[in-house]
Amino acid sequence: MSSTQPPTTLQATYFNGQVLKGTPVNVHCGAGQLVFFLGDTKHAIALRSVKRSESFGNAPIVFELPDGATLEFDRESSRNTLKFWNALSPSWFEKVQYHPTQWLLISLVSIAFAAGLYGQGLPLIGKWIAFATPQSKVSKFMEDVLPQLDGVIFQPSNLGDQAKATHQRQLKSLIANQAGLSHVKLAFRSSKIGPNAFALPDGTIVLTDELLNSLPAEIIPGVLAHELGHVELRHMTRRLLQNAMVGTLIATFSRDISILVSTLGTQLVAQHYSREFEREADLFAIELFVKQGRDLAALELLHEKLGSLDQSGSRNASYLDSHPGADERLQLIREKQQNKEAR
Ligand SMILES: [Zn+2]
Repeated sequence: MSSTQPPTTLQATYFNGQVLKGTPVNVHCGAGQLVFFLGDTKHAIALRSVKRSESFGNAPIVFELPDGATLEFDRESSRNTLKFWNALSPSWFEKVQYHPTQWLLISLVSIAFAAGLYGQGLPLIGKWIAFATPQSKVSKFMEDVLPQLDGVIFQPSNLGDQAKATHQRQLKSLIANQAGLSHVKLAFRSSKIGPNAFALPDGTIVLTDELLNSLPAEIIPGVLAHELGHVELRHMTRRLLQNAMVGTLIATFSRDISILVSTLGTQLVAQHYSREFEREADLFAIELFVKQGRDLAALELLHEKLGSLDQSGSRNASYLDSHPGADERLQLIREKQQNKEAR
């Protein structure tokens, strides 16, 4: 015979929901009912109508009665008895407290969900906003970016007027008949960060002297076409929006341009576009070349040159770092070339 029969009554404190002071009661459970006396009045309450609040740690176990009153049980002394009475129907929250593997599973699912939002959701939202906002608004809002960067990472260009005019002509012929790219401008700068090219959100393409000096002029259209891809696809705006959404660029919306620009400068130098954006820009460049009847050999040469620059030790250039390997890009160009010839 068991010597540890659970008790048939439990001490609890009754709160009527109107006054703070509780009344001690003896609670009995039977036939699916909680039974207790308040003075001479018998209260019999169906268990299934009783809600039990989530509780954890050493907090009392609280039963919410249908009329708004509550019964509080001391967790430690009452839990086993309530269990024996089948009066406990633990919430998922309480269940997982006692099942670490479930916790782990729930945590993993939460992390996966958050990563999904970050990895998939935010880029999608960023893309939607970037394309829903008229370019003229983006340009207006971002027009101060370059002047601000001038104090941080750029210095005036030392390039001759003739070379500048050549590249301006190259840009002009690339954007001829490209309706969405008529706002694109070129800016020449010398930079502390070496050979580089950037497409700013307002459509300004910045070419550094260091890049122009290390590449033959005839392959610069390839660089420009790639950057035009970033402009057309609004990559910089999308990346800024993504960052803004995760809170590192709140200043974008507060119009505090100095914070924006200090962050943008850091990003330009330190952060790379995703490989997906790079591939999209590469593809755009190839298609633009094909559309305009240009020789894809110029793009091939560009990537060969970039590849060799890459190996020559000028590694602090994000333009080079961020771009897919030369082999990969040459492969892409050759595939396009073959498709073209097969037609
Ligand atoms: Zn790029």
